[in-house]
Amino acid sequence: MKVYLDNSATTPLNPYVLEAMLPFYTEKFGNAASIHSFGREANRAVSDAREIIAECINSRPSEIYFTSGGTESDNWALKGAVSVSKNKNKHIITTLIEHPAILNTCAELEKQNVKVTYLKPSKEGIINIKNLSESITEDTILSTIMFANNEIGTIQPIKEAAAICRDFGVLFHTDAVQAMDSQKIDVKDLGVDMLSMSAHKFHGPKGIGVLFLKTGSRLGKLINGGEQERGLRAGTTPTPLIVGMAKALEISNRDREINNERILRLRNRFIDMVLSEIPYAYLNGCRDSRLPNNANFSFAFIEGESILMRLDLAGIAVSSGSACASGSLEASHVILSLGVKEELAHSTIRFSLGVDTTEQQMDYVFNVLKKTVDDLRKMSPLYDYEKGIGSYV
Ligand code: PLP
Repeated sequence: MKVYLDNSATTPLNPYVLEAMLPFYTEKFGNAASIHSFGREANRAVSDAREIIAECINSRPSEIYFTSGGTESDNWALKGAVSVSKNKNKHIITTLIEHPAILNTCAELEKQNVKVTYLKPSKEGIINIKNLSESITEDTILSTIMFANNEIGTIQPIKEAAAICRDFGVLFHTDAVQAMDSQKIDVKDLGVDMLSMSAHKFHGPKGIGVLFLKTGSRLGKLINGGEQERGLRAGTTPTPLIVGMAKALEISNRDREINNERILRLRNRFIDMVLSEIPYAYLNGCRDSRLPNNANFSFAFIEGESILMRLDLAGIAVSSGSACASGSLEASHVILSLGVKEELAHSTIRFSLGVDTTEQQMDYVFNVLKKTVDDLRKMSPLYDYEKGIGSYV
C-alpha cells in the first residue's frame, strides 16, 4: 500500500487545476504584457485569477501580488519593509518557530544591522501575545508571526497580534503558507498588512505564490526588471501558474469544511491510537489550536530518521523533524524551542494528512508504525526492552 502523509511538504495537483492550466501552455500562450489579442487573452485570465484570489481572502484584487512562492513572499515582506523604512535603527520581531524562509531572511538582515527579537513559544507551541507588546520599541518597523507552524501545526493568535501592532503603528506580516488550505483567511477581519501564501500547499502548482499587501503599505522591490505587478515585482507573468493557483484556492475554499471535518476525525483517531498504544510517544504542540491534518510525535529512544526510512520501505511517506529544513541532521529548531530535550527531539516524526487520506490507510500506518517503533527499540541501547524503560525522558 502507498500512503502519502507529507501534505505539509507539498500536495498533489488537483486534476481540475491542471485542466484549467493546460490551455495557457498551449493555444493561449500569450505574454500577459503584450497588447495584441494573444496578450489580452492571457492578461484577462490573470485579472480573473487575481479577482478570484482576492475574493477568497476578502481583499481587493489590487492588493494581490504574484510571486514565485512562499519563500519569495516572505523575503519580500521583510526585506521590502526594511528597505523603505526611514528609521535610523531598525527592529523586527518574529518567533523562534518560523520557517527558514523567515528565519534565514532575518539572519541576513541582522548582518545589515537590523535588530531582531525572536519570541519563544510556550511548551505547547503558541506565542504569548503579551511578549509581543513588551518587545515593541520605538525602532520596531515590522512584526512577522506565522499563521500555522509547518512542523507541529500550531495556530498562532494572528488577529490579536495584528491588533497590537496596529496600535503601535508597526507593520504586521504573517506567513500563512501552511494555513491556507484548512483555515478561512479573511485579511480584513485579521487586520494584517501583509500575508504570504503558496499554491503547492493547497493542490495548486509549484513555483507560484502571493504576497497580499494592504493598500497604503509601502514596500521596496525585491526583484528589479519590467513593470509587471504594478511595477513592484518584475518578471514575465506566469499565466498558467496563476490560473492554477486561483483555481486551487477556489476549490480549497469550496471544500474546506467538508475536508476539515473528515481529516480531523482521522487525525484525532490516529493521535489517540498512538498515545494509548505506543509507549513513550509524545505529541508535540498543543492539540486544540492546531491544523486539522497535523500529528507530530516524538518516539523516545529511537531516531526519527530510522522510523522514516522503515515507513518509506513500507510505502508510507512522512517527514522527520530534522533534516528536511536544513539538509543537516540537527534536531528541529521548532521542537527544541518547545523545551524538548535534544535526544527526544531527534526522535520526531510529522504525519500530515490530506484530502485523499482514508481510514484504511491510517490503520495500515498505525500498525506499521507500532511494529517499527517496537523493532527499533529492541535494538536501541537507550531502551531496556525487557523492563520497558529507557535511560532518559
Ligand atoms: N513558509 C512555510 C510556513 C512553509 O511551510 C513553506 C514551505 O514549506 C514556505 C514558507 C516556503 O514556501 P515555498 O515552498 O512556496 O517557497
